[in-house]
Amino acid sequence: MNGQYKDYYKVLGVSKNASAKEIKSAFRKLARKHHPDANPNNKAAEEKFKEINEAYEVLSDDKKRKAYDQGPQFFTAGGGAGPGGGAYGPGGFSFNFGDFGAGGQADFSSIFDLFGGGGARAGGRRSAAQRGKDLEYAVRLSFEEALKGVTTKINVSGDAPCPTCHGSGAKPGTVPQTCPTCGGRGVTAQDQGFFGLSRACPQCGGSGRIVTDPCPTCRGAGHVAQSKKVTVKLPPGVGDGSKLRFAGKGEAGINGGPPGDLYVIARVEPHPYFKRKGADILLDVPITFSEAALGAKIQVPTTDGRVVLKVPPGTQAGKVFRLKGKGAPKLKGAGTGDMRVKVHVVVPQKLTAQGKDALERFSEVAGEDPRARLFTKG
Ligand SMILES: [Zn+2]
Ligand SMILES: [Zn+2]
Repeated sequence: MNGQYKDYYKVLGVSKNASAKEIKSAFRKLARKHHPDANPNNKAAEEKFKEINEAYEVLSDDKKRKAYDQGPQFFTAGGGAGPGGGAYGPGGFSFNFGDFGAGGQADFSSIFDLFGGGGARAGGRRSAAQRGKDLEYAVRLSFEEALKGVTTKINVSGDAPCPTCHGSGAKPGTVPQTCPTCGGRGVTAQDQGFFGLSRACPQCGGSGRIVTDPCPTCRGAGHVAQSKKVTVKLPPGVGDGSKLRFAGKGEAGINGGPPGDLYVIARVEPHPYFKRKGADILLDVPITFSEAALGAKIQVPTTDGRVVLKVPPGTQAGKVFRLKGKGAPKLKGAGTGDMRVKVHVVVPQKLTAQGKDALERFSEVAGEDPRARLFTKG
């Protein structure tokens, strides 16, 4: 960040009470002169170019200009407008110096279209290396598969550079012609004001070139649909909705650019009685009234066989018992979740005569009135 207070009026060579029109015109003139395209490998021009943009960013914005005019104490260049991080967006175009190559090697290719100058870079947009797109696929797996992990193949389709023309779109042996409308610049409306320059040429679509003999494989598109099988490994313990990234397995890059990434979203099918909560597995278990009152050893299923759960006497409905280590494997780091067993007390709906008799006798001797405390006065 450059927090220095610079004389932006001086940078643009205008007076303190210059009109918006004068500022714009001065900026256009200087930006053309110091544009990196016109000054290749010129560090000083590059710095100057940044400075001009910084000045214009502030002076072209009424609010920022007002703050700036009040003096350094009211203005910080770093406040979202500074170089090295701020997005400079005059007229709706945004380019960010922070994105430029590290180590002082600036890559201005992304803004050539904005200025449209420099025949040397004509058609530069199409020949620039581009990272392939990221792709996203869902994989369905059963509850058990999610616990154990699966390795599966998925059919991934996306655009790939055409193998016949290698992306140029031209029939092998022919070369694309320079677009007559824009003269190869890829942009038109040069005289409709500075910002008009960024309009893509309607004839060539901004590439600066016209393919006269289209490639028979891709019909001039430069890319073909490609389907490839990718083996993906979903780790044990993956949950429903887990998103996994497979670096470099996405769409192929353009003109030597790196491939995109592949994201795989796990869709875990529900289980008839187990539920997942993170690495824990939840299970609802019914117990009888007498098991809850007297205590019991009951069998409960886990994902790796039955275990015996000891229900102590006087267990209340809704009590949760934790079975350590009987959950799902944890995704990051070692360890396994627990199984949480919640007991539900089942009230018999059909009683035999003997059962009814026994319960009636029980209620005579039970003694406790569970609602007694609701009627005691504070
Ligand atoms: Zn082709
Ligand atoms: Zn054109």
